[in-house]
Amino acid sequence: NTLSSEKTSHTTCPYCGVGCGVEVTVSETESGQQSLSHLEGNRQHPANFGQLCVKGSNLLDTNDLSNRLLHPMIEGERVSWPDAYQHIADKFTAIINEYGSDAVAFYVSGQLLTEDYYAVNKLAKGYLGTANVDTNSRLCMSSAVSAYKRAFGEDIVPCDYQDLENTDLLVLIGSNAAWTHPILFQRMEKAKKLNPEMRIVHVDPRANATSSLADLHLGIKPGSDAYLFNGLLNYISKSHAFDRAFVESHTNGFDAALSSASLSIEEVASHCDIDAKTVKQFYELFVSSPKAISFYSMGINQSNSGVDKANSIINCHLASGKIGKEGCGPFSITGQPNAMGGREVGGLANMLAAHMDIENPTHKARVKEFWQSPTIAEQGGLKAVDLFDSLENGKVKAVWIMATNPLVSMPNRNKIERALKKAELVVVSDVVSENDTLAYAHVKLPATAWSEKDGTVTNSERRVSRQRGLLIPPGEAKHDWQIISEFAQAMGFKEGFNYTHPSQIYAEHAALSGYENDDERYFNISAHKNISLNTYNNMKPYRWPLPEVGATQNSLPDSKRVFSDGKFYTENRRANFIPIDPRIPEQCTSDDYPFVLNTGRLRDQWHTMTRTGKTGKLAQHISESSIYMRAEDAAKLSVSEGEWVHISSAMSQAEQVCLPVKIDEKLRLGTCFAPIHWNQTFASSASIARLFTDARDPLSGQPELKHAAIKIEKS
Ligand code: SF4
Repeated sequence: NTLSSEKTSHTTCPYCGVGCGVEVTVSETESGQQSLSHLEGNRQHPANFGQLCVKGSNLLDTNDLSNRLLHPMIEGERVSWPDAYQHIADKFTAIINEYGSDAVAFYVSGQLLTEDYYAVNKLAKGYLGTANVDTNSRLCMSSAVSAYKRAFGEDIVPCDYQDLENTDLLVLIGSNAAWTHPILFQRMEKAKKLNPEMRIVHVDPRANATSSLADLHLGIKPGSDAYLFNGLLNYISKSHAFDRAFVESHTNGFDAALSSASLSIEEVASHCDIDAKTVKQFYELFVSSPKAISFYSMGINQSNSGVDKANSIINCHLASGKIGKEGCGPFSITGQPNAMGGREVGGLANMLAAHMDIENPTHKARVKEFWQSPTIAEQGGLKAVDLFDSLENGKVKAVWIMATNPLVSMPNRNKIERALKKAELVVVSDVVSENDTLAYAHVKLPATAWSEKDGTVTNSERRVSRQRGLLIPPGEAKHDWQIISEFAQAMGFKEGFNYTHPSQIYAEHAALSGYENDDERYFNISAHKNISLNTYNNMKPYRWPLPEVGATQNSLPDSKRVFSDGKFYTENRRANFIPIDPRIPEQCTSDDYPFVLNTGRLRDQWHTMTRTGKTGKLAQHISESSIYMRAEDAAKLSVSEGEWVHISSAMSQAEQVCLPVKIDEKLRLGTCFAPIHWNQTFASSASIARLFTDARDPLSGQPELKHAAIKIEKS
């Protein structure tokens, strides 16, 4: 087994939405055995310039073949790929013939590559005729998407990572970036060191690792964010920071938004349950800082009013003209590596490809013609919670789940279990052979993993990077786009899915984005429609929109700044202020359920731990799940640190969730925190999302996963 070759490739970390570039060395022995022998950060990658967090640094330790699904299986029996495809095709066809296209659904993932996402959307929306394709990104950033669309007429992220370093004020809202987006947090730390005048405000009910960098922490009452930003809008309107010229020339609806935001500082303080002095300090910082970024994440999005909360933030940037300029803007950060890529190709049930709208007849006709669709979805499909409701009530008969573990991540686990039990067909494509969701699969399909997948991902600042296939897929594992394309052929769609390489899908996505459409809102990506295999393979990370039509990814400079000309993508090219009437969380405390539960990620784990749980190194930081609470609250229950407690909500029984207590004095009294990660392999009693109801934002459908009402009892 003498070493015969070593090759270094550039690829992308598969965990969070920062999208860090990594450099990996692949070694091959004379007998053809491949291994990943070295990994480090890619110094040339503009997201991370060589830095990696602990999850990224330990990627190679989570990349072994243990627990890999290697062969297609039907009802526990190994089958060939053609048999698996035929089985699913027969079932899908029978169901569609009897109940219509909307009786089948796909539930996919921000872990998919853009090419995978494109293929599954094209199949469902353009060939099967259903828009029932939703994604776990619904749980992550769909409220941010809806808010951008309401304000700007389009889902556009108006900032980039350099803005985080070139600002005067960074407002972090509902984000523990130090743990969830560590490389961005490091960039913030460095920026503050270089510019001690820069100010950082952290708005979060829970003081945490991120608060340590903040000059000011606002530990607001959970769910009260919109009051805070309505009050800020009111304060801006009366200050020198009000940009009347910008508001008059480039926006709609300021007066209506202001009239619903007329709160005094004292009223804001009362709603947010913090002192008025702190509120005023924050407002003064905002109006006195020439540049400001509002950086927000799941603490805003995962709410029954997430869209309104995001719009209340955007309103403040519009009123102060802090948008479309360096170091300014409302910056929503995605959780997953390719939530953004999914957005570009229509990964959400209410979107068509290339940011076109499923309810817009012109868009629909355009996409239908481009795809040569036999049938195109007529209206928006089922969003995640509704999709599983429809499985439970029998309206949807078959679901195909790709690269996600909804049993652990979705709220109301008991309902998800009932829904999957009721389904006539559950297909799961995954890397692993066992997880909570796979236990309910009739058909299991082996998909390729990070080191084998080949395609593109788009990070939070909308930078497209290549994820490169480094290793030959093991067993019979196939790429997700390949599985969908071959299945489409088995369904009889011979044309339209004869892809042999992801570059062809990428080129088609680029061509569709520019089809009959030279508007810059489609990002000039059509320049890539004739991309050669060589150029695709050598693609460097780039941000879009590209500077001009005809620019290529290798002729960077980076994109121009969106909205720098004050033009937005609404009909009259003005941004919309949205009047916000703040709503409290739906899952409110009561005598029976007196504690508020907040959830989030730990520093060293990822999602449901199917990968990060593989290495002990990532358990060194925190090795077990806990319920974090204040000592005073624990004392009321006569429990102390380390003691096990039963936790229940209106959705669960007490025996289902059982965790040890951890004392955390940085929490608000009456509130608790628990991590989201633990799955059945590690501790099923720590599977926390089951405590949450189906409460969700009425516009985005994003579940309220930051605010449950729970009861805690001594075990
Ligand atoms: Fe990977 Fe995110 Fe860490 Fe970067 S910050 S190395 S993308 S987990």
